[in-house]
Amino acid sequence: MVVPPQDNAFSKLGLNDALAFGVTEMGYAEPTPIQTQAIPVILSGKDVIGSAQTGTGKTAAFALPIIHKLGSHGKMRVLVLEPTRELALQVEEAFQKFSKYTDITATVVYGGVGYGKQRDDLRRGIDVLAATPGRLLDHMEQGDVKLGDIEILVLDEVDRMLDMGFLPDVKRIIQKCPQARQTLFFSATMPPELAQLSSWALREPVEIKIGQRRSPAETIAHAFYPAVASQKFDLLIELLRRTDFKSIIIFTRTKMGADRIAHRLQAEKHSVGVIHSDRNQRERVEALQGFKDGRFEVLVATDIAARGLDIAGVSHVINYDVPENPEDYVHRIGRTGRAHASGDAFTLVTEDDVRDARSIERFIGATIERKKLDGFPYVYSALFDEKALAEAAAPEKPKSRLMRGARR
Ligand code: AMP
Repeated sequence: MVVPPQDNAFSKLGLNDALAFGVTEMGYAEPTPIQTQAIPVILSGKDVIGSAQTGTGKTAAFALPIIHKLGSHGKMRVLVLEPTRELALQVEEAFQKFSKYTDITATVVYGGVGYGKQRDDLRRGIDVLAATPGRLLDHMEQGDVKLGDIEILVLDEVDRMLDMGFLPDVKRIIQKCPQARQTLFFSATMPPELAQLSSWALREPVEIKIGQRRSPAETIAHAFYPAVASQKFDLLIELLRRTDFKSIIIFTRTKMGADRIAHRLQAEKHSVGVIHSDRNQRERVEALQGFKDGRFEVLVATDIAARGLDIAGVSHVINYDVPENPEDYVHRIGRTGRAHASGDAFTLVTEDDVRDARSIERFIGATIERKKLDGFPYVYSALFDEKALAEAAAPEKPKSRLMRGARR
C-alpha cells in the first residue's frame, strides 16, 4: 500500500509518512510529552538520557525516530536491551507494529527458551534486535550475532537492569558496539550508580525528564482499603463483586501468595492467569496472552510483572499486599491508566502495613483516601481509628501498639 502524504502532529515532529500514517491508524491522535520532546532530539542524532514514568509512551518515543532513521531494510543496526523477557517481547512487537508500512524488520532474543528459532531469526537478517543481556551474550559467544554494525543502542529500564545484576553483562555488550553510535538511555529512576554508567556509555546526552518522576499517572484514582489480615481475601472478593472492571491485575508480595490467591479466585469462578518467576516461560506467555486477549479477566502477579508491561485496557490494579518498596507501588499501578486511559488502584492495608503505606504516600507526594465497603462485615481494626494510626506511623515511637508482632 502506498501511504498518502501526511500532515499531522507526528509528521510535524519530523517523522516520515509511513510512520505518521501508521500511528494514527493505531489510534494515536497526539504525541505524548515524551514523544514531543524525544523524537526531534533522537532524529537529530544526539544521545539521550530519558526519565519517564511508565505508560507515558516511551517505547514509541524511541522506536518511531529509530525506524525513521533506518530508512529501509539493511544490516542489523539497532540493539534494544531490556531487563526482562516480557519487555523485550513487547518492544519487538512495538517495532513490528510501527514498521507496518516500511520494510524494516525486528526480532527478539531472551532466555528460558531454545536457541534454534532465535538463531534462525538472527541469521535471516533483521534491522532491529530486542534482547535481554544474558541470552544476547550467549548468542554472541556462539557466533550467531555480531554487534559491529550497531548504529543505535537503546538501554531501556536501566535502573531495573542494574537491580537485576545485569551491569557486567550490559557493559560487555556496550563494549562490543562501535564507539561511533547513538546511545539512548531510559530509566524510570536515576539512582547515583547510573551516573557512572551513563558518563561512560553516552556522549553529551540531552536530558529529557517527563513530569515528576515519582508521581504515578494522573489518570489513576487511588484508594486504601484497611482490613485485618484474616479478612483480606473476603474483602478482595467483595471488592471484585462491587467493581465494574474490564480486566484487573492483582499483585502479591510472594509467588506462593500469588498461587494461593489464584486458586481461591478460581474456586470463586473467576477466570485467572498467574505470572511469577517460578512459572516457566511457556506458562508466563500463556498467562499474559490469555489476559491480553480477554480469556482471563484477572491476572495475579508478583512484582516481576510490575515494570513496563504494557497491557491495553487494564481497568484496575489491586495490591493484595502492600509493596515493601514505594517505587514498586508506582510501577504496579502504572499497569493501569496507561497513556491517556484512566484506571483505579486499590490497596489492601493491614495493621502491619501502616508504615509501608505511609511511605508510599510520602513517595508519591499525596494522601491516598481510606475507604470502607458499606455493609461489609468488618472485624474491628485499630486501622479504623485515625489517632491510633497516626501513633503507629510516628517514627520516634518504634514499638507502638499497632506495630507489635512479626512482620512478614
Ligand atoms: P509505553 O509507555 O511505551 O509502554 O506506552 C504505553 C501505552 O501508550 C502503549 O499502549 C502505547 O501504545 C500507548 N501510546 C503511546 N503513545 C501514544 C500516543 N501518542 N497516543 C495514544 N496512545 C499512545
